[in-house]
Amino acid sequence: MTSDSLLSAGSPAAGFDCFGLRDELLQALVASGYRQPSPVQTQTIPLLLQRRDLIAQAQTGTGKTAAFALPCLHNLDAQQRCCQVLVLTPTRELALQVAKSFARYGAQLPQVRVLPIYGGSDFRPQIQGLRRGAQVVVGTPGRVMDHMRQGTLSLDGLRGLVLDEADEMLRMGFIDDVTWIMERTPTERQLMLFSATMPPEVRQLSGRFLRDPAEVTIATSKADTQRIRQQLLMVHASQKLRALVQVLDTEASEATMVFVRTKQATVEVSSALDGHGYRCAALNGDVVQSQREQVIERLRSGRVDVVVATDVAARGIDVERITMVINYDVPLDAEAYVHRIGRTGRAGRQGRALLLATPRERRLVQAIERANGQQLEVMDAPDADTVNRHRRQRFKERILGALDGADVPVFEQLVQELSAEKCLPVEHIAAALAQLVQGAKPFACSAEEPPVLRLNPRRQSRPLAAHMERYRIEVGWKHRVKPSNIVGALANQAGIRGQSIGRIHIFDEHSTVDLPKDLPEDLFATLRNMRVVSKPLRIRKLEVSAV
Ligand code: AMP
Repeated sequence: MTSDSLLSAGSPAAGFDCFGLRDELLQALVASGYRQPSPVQTQTIPLLLQRRDLIAQAQTGTGKTAAFALPCLHNLDAQQRCCQVLVLTPTRELALQVAKSFARYGAQLPQVRVLPIYGGSDFRPQIQGLRRGAQVVVGTPGRVMDHMRQGTLSLDGLRGLVLDEADEMLRMGFIDDVTWIMERTPTERQLMLFSATMPPEVRQLSGRFLRDPAEVTIATSKADTQRIRQQLLMVHASQKLRALVQVLDTEASEATMVFVRTKQATVEVSSALDGHGYRCAALNGDVVQSQREQVIERLRSGRVDVVVATDVAARGIDVERITMVINYDVPLDAEAYVHRIGRTGRAGRQGRALLLATPRERRLVQAIERANGQQLEVMDAPDADTVNRHRRQRFKERILGALDGADVPVFEQLVQELSAEKCLPVEHIAAALAQLVQGAKPFACSAEEPPVLRLNPRRQSRPLAAHMERYRIEVGWKHRVKPSNIVGALANQAGIRGQSIGRIHIFDEHSTVDLPKDLPEDLFATLRNMRVVSKPLRIRKLEVSAV
């Protein structure tokens, strides 16, 4: 974990000691390897130490947990054995993770107890923990309400209430629960609201409950966006699975999260990947809590490399190994996209995010790009040769990985026996075994059936006017070309006046432009050498009859 990369270039280089935090907390930070506060920490810690209410817009991975946990722990009275800090989180995973962070930062503080409470797990240990006087409780709204109703959790001594990932909590329909809990907290508590995005519902909630709040916005810094390379691959719906396998086959990723829309898709996609030799697991709302934790642990320890998940099931996952997020299904809004891609590029590491989109989903892609303030880089599907090269390599690695297996000596004997009995070379037997492992699906990706995915034109071209001719140029939608780029280049570089330029049709990989008949040869020569959006035009005349 590199603390430097969490810093924005212009932030004050003062370490954590400038805040006046308790020594025990500083010691724990040293033990955690944190040397410099991240921007969200620099801005919020002083405000929270003054006990101000706060509304902070900060994305996941920015260090926001420490930003609220450190002041909360600093203000805690360890002698009082009651709940003094309550953190509400949208999911069990996030509750666990935040509780772990509190425990880590508070490790040197004597007698501080932190307790995660969430649905889907036994009430009894939670009740015991609360009876023992946990001062920091981190929980999901439903289970917190249950404990409050049955009298096992009292908020009379509450000093601080944190809403973590507030946008997510409201999106998941927890608004009534959160309001119910907030209405039952003492008036003097400090309220801290953290959210990756600020939809109107979050604003309303803050307007209703926060008193004269300080506002902090951590703009996604250039370093953050550069850290996660965001790409787009346009595919037909019927080719999505093939595209996914090809991308996984060819792109180096330590661990990958694949996001799909439905529970059923988590199972289908994960078993398809399993069939291609990937160590993968499905994560959806039906997977029981203990199994979810196991899946995340297996991902963390490298026993699983690909997790196929729905949005809800993947909230709060913080696994540094995840170097790639693949949006197999386009998220339905930009906020979900932000949360999904935040599963990679954790703790200042590099990450990649890929969005698979079908031609029909262009509007969703554009909405994501607008909200995200940047265009996604268009990626080409890998060609057959590249896919095959990587497949061979991966298959070899799988074989090498199995050499230590407990039964290898037994199989060795078996192969020798068979070779002797049938007079077969061992290569032949090895090949047959490889075929058994591969099953019925073809191993090689065929060049005749190119993996590069062809897309339908965005719209049909309209007929050609009588005095015009139609030309094809090799820039299209996937190169982000706009009609204005083409008109601009034709006018500025070739001196063709705007009025003389006819219809322009932009397709996925090329465009057509109608130009006056009988262009002078020297002008055509200029056009042939032109570039638009850095791509050579490679202009050529099309045989299209005019109407
Ligand atoms: P969060 O946004 O709270 O989920 O934190 C993202 C990751 O950054 C976690 O793995 C933290 O342990 C780590 N982190 C938070 N603050 C710092 C810091 N000041 N220096 C180094 N790592 C940090």
